[in-house]
Amino acid sequence: MADAQMITVSFPEDDIALFTLDDPQKGANILSRHVLDELEARLDEIDQRGGLAGLVIASGKPSNFIAGADIREFAAAKDIQPEDTVAMCTRGRKLFQRLSTCRCVTVAAIDGVCVGGGAELALWCDRRVMSDRREAQYGFPEVKIGIFPGWGGTARTPRIVGLGNAVEMVTSGESIDGRAAALMGLASDVAPSDQVVEASIRLIRDEQQSGQYVEDRKRWAGPIEISETELGFLGATASAYIQQQTKGHYPAPLAALELMLGAASMDIEAACQAEAEGMSELFGTPINRALINVFFLTDRNKKDPGVADNSVAPRAIESVGVVGAGIMGAGIAAATVKRKIPVTITDAAQEPLARGVKNVLEEVSYNKATKAADVERTLQFAPLVNATMADAEFGGCDLVIEAIVENPRIKGELYDRLESKLKPDAILASNTSAISIGQLAKGLKHPERFCGIHFFNPVRKMPLVEIIRGPQSSDETIATAVAYAKRIGKSPIVVNDGPGFLVNRLLLPYMNEALELMLEGATIKQIDGAAKEFGMPMGPITLYDVVGLDTAFYAGGVMHEAFPDRVVQSPLLEAMVKAGRLGQKTGVGFMAYPDKKGRGQPDPALDDIIAPLMRAKESFTTEQITHRLFLPMVLEATRVLDAGIVRDVRDVDLGLIFGIGFPPFKGGLLWWADTLGARKIIELLEPLSGLGERMRPTPMLEEMAASGRKFYE
Ligand code: NAD
Repeated sequence: MADAQMITVSFPEDDIALFTLDDPQKGANILSRHVLDELEARLDEIDQRGGLAGLVIASGKPSNFIAGADIREFAAAKDIQPEDTVAMCTRGRKLFQRLSTCRCVTVAAIDGVCVGGGAELALWCDRRVMSDRREAQYGFPEVKIGIFPGWGGTARTPRIVGLGNAVEMVTSGESIDGRAAALMGLASDVAPSDQVVEASIRLIRDEQQSGQYVEDRKRWAGPIEISETELGFLGATASAYIQQQTKGHYPAPLAALELMLGAASMDIEAACQAEAEGMSELFGTPINRALINVFFLTDRNKKDPGVADNSVAPRAIESVGVVGAGIMGAGIAAATVKRKIPVTITDAAQEPLARGVKNVLEEVSYNKATKAADVERTLQFAPLVNATMADAEFGGCDLVIEAIVENPRIKGELYDRLESKLKPDAILASNTSAISIGQLAKGLKHPERFCGIHFFNPVRKMPLVEIIRGPQSSDETIATAVAYAKRIGKSPIVVNDGPGFLVNRLLLPYMNEALELMLEGATIKQIDGAAKEFGMPMGPITLYDVVGLDTAFYAGGVMHEAFPDRVVQSPLLEAMVKAGRLGQKTGVGFMAYPDKKGRGQPDPALDDIIAPLMRAKESFTTEQITHRLFLPMVLEATRVLDAGIVRDVRDVDLGLIFGIGFPPFKGGLLWWADTLGARKIIELLEPLSGLGERMRPTPMLEEMAASGRKFYE
């Protein structure tokens, strides 16, 4: 498709030009190379026209000003050299800079998302007017893809809002609304959504009269006014905070901080030059490319309806039923109520139901801002919770999610009782973590309206939901489950039925291997340390303690039954469970937790359990441990792909990032595997072949090594 024209020029008043940005081919305005060319041409026309008092830049999109630069162009740029990056930055910046030097007053009229390159374009205008809508958001999310603003953002922002505010905006990547922007002087005015252009024109008239914009132009061209003491304090506090947040895995925020501190004493030209040079050290690096992949994974997930047939529409979900008010049921109910969907909830008895409802209300009443329960929230959400012991009250629900005890017989008995009481077109779903959806559907009259909706614990925190398609689940059921999960703010991936579904199936080899390593001589500190150095949020041994060793033992048993050739059942896990060391919840697992929570402490008594089971006393390097932990995960992923459990490699990567916190800066498990290459992985597995089937290259990996194919084509 040829690039369409995006900028329309009009003259709402004789001496006021209005650029309206509206890309007819896209839902959002994006600054591609083509758009920059067009902007250049339009600015040339305006320059030639003369006699203008002002230029307003606005958007024709309903809730988007400019969504940033074209990340697809970034992704396509291969083997980019530092001088190419500097040239790319300089070109965009010099173009936008014309907005701060042209003969008339320039104003960005922002009524929607204004981020990344869009925020920089607006920044080079003399003034910004933002609408008072929540959709009007201003920010620099570049650090989230491993870079920083490169079209003058790091140089110009501190001049307008002060260095402290600028550092916070650029290094956090978080957006702010119009009111916050006005408070820090980023926006000169906040207007109702339909009046941002009029307010911008008024502002142009004021500026013409006062001439203040001319003064600001002069001031903002020079160095930043800040004392050495302030600069030192800001540097020390911001750098400590960033290091604690990024744990050294994400270089962009710290690089942005150092750049902004170092450039404070420079004039704007030198600061912009330093920015372009700094960008050349981040752009195109493996971390930048990996984070761009995560951006695409998330973007694809947002648009994925979960079924191949686009004509299938999800059913409307106006009311949800939850059976089982335990840890998961209460979490699911709270997440649903928070999105203003009424919930009917029950349990096997009054007491657990009352406890569950109390948990739901506590969670929905919690106000993040005040970090306390909020009466107003309680009053708003409590009427949406209907606690009942009567099955008949589920007759009005569009979707009923079962979250009772993990026992196929008890779940089956519940379905027998409940199915006939549901609406004729209601969808029934199970939150089971391991039981086959096909098996659970066996006694149902309508297996086509049944599927798995597998939330992760804690529901409040974990973004992932696996939607499990049973052998008979209909497309409509799956599309509806996906739409529901998105509506309550989750990232659903559709997986086919199979032991452990996707995430637990891939997690198990990693967890198992950690125990094997322990019995061969590696210490907890070394194992957890290697996983954390790799980027995992916690090590596998700590994870055992958090999840509960009994749960892990049960899940391991299910997986061993399904894949006896490669799933080893560690005698260590069994011994720990027998000793009642179940993890945090019992105050002791692999480590001791005197308060049954928090950080574990080494427990010398553990030696009595491990010593009789030790097979060797080897020493391991961090790299060896990393390979032992993560390569079996890659092998299992090839089996999952082969068995058609997922529809796309990207679901594997997104599932692990959102489900177990696989490090985003590695781009995903299979993205990381591609950086090694199949041939290299086989080479690394070679010395581990003595460990048996679980370390043997799979046919898919061998084929990839032979053909040079990658997971991401
Ligand atoms: P839980 O023990 O906290 O809660 C289960 C609740 O179901 C209890 O309140 C119990 O009284 C109730 N219940 C039992 N039989 C019932 C019946 N016949 N009718 C109505 N209520 C009944 O368990 P949980 O951790 O919330 O797990 C629930 C389901 O979610 C299980 O299938 C589990 O495998 C799955 N799951 C758990 C986790 C987790 O980490 N806890 C994660 C994902 C999925």
